[in-house]
Amino acid sequence: MIIRERASPNHDARPEAKRIDMLVLHYTGMKTAAEAIDRLCDPAAKVSAHYMIDEDGTVWRLVEESRRAWHAGTSFWQGTPDVNAVSIGIELVNPGHDWGYRAFPEAQMASLEALCRGLLSRHPIPLDRVVGHSDVAPLRKQDPGELFDWARLARAGIGFWPSDPAPPPSDVAGAQAMLGAIGYRVPNSGRLDTETRDVLVAFQRRFRPGRIDGDLDDETAARVAAVARTVSALRAGRKP
Ligand SMILES: [Zn+2]
Repeated sequence: MIIRERASPNHDARPEAKRIDMLVLHYTGMKTAAEAIDRLCDPAAKVSAHYMIDEDGTVWRLVEESRRAWHAGTSFWQGTPDVNAVSIGIELVNPGHDWGYRAFPEAQMASLEALCRGLLSRHPIPLDRVVGHSDVAPLRKQDPGELFDWARLARAGIGFWPSDPAPPPSDVAGAQAMLGAIGYRVPNSGRLDTETRDVLVAFQRRFRPGRIDGDLDDETAARVAAVARTVSALRAGRKP
């Protein structure tokens, strides 16, 4: 893994200086890698990430891990409202849904795995706090999207993939409770309202990428239950 340096000015102090317990994955969503890195380093743009990984596997270090990079924006996960404050952000070069979304190449995935293994060894990041941008901002974001191979990453010991089935929720309220227990900010309306559908879309992008429609179909419901069970087991410190 080749790491190249390019300093972004877009960072500030972490409010809790030592706390780093989340990892957030993104895609750049711009036509080219050059455009993306320019933006991540442009003081006027006020966005950044700690790392950017090009499609050829080159890793760019943009912000020191000890600093708060500005990648997640308004966000929430497992009760944490300012995800930037406690996370490391990694941008994967990909044009994204607006400019020709495409598969993440092997070289890029291999570098990501190597980088993440290092991060997880340096920081106490629980596996259920390795997330996508769309998980922490489901009303606004789609990245890294349904072509990102979370199952592969989980096999490499980064994040998790649900293995055992669990009894599905009997209604929308039950599904909302499970999604909330996983970490999503979700209403408890008991209805498939717009916000709940957005959360289900984010969930499907990550855990049921075959069909992304925001519906609580049987397979989605079963997946929600399986993921909730896995997260609960991870939190209890057991092996899922
Ligand atoms: Zn993002």
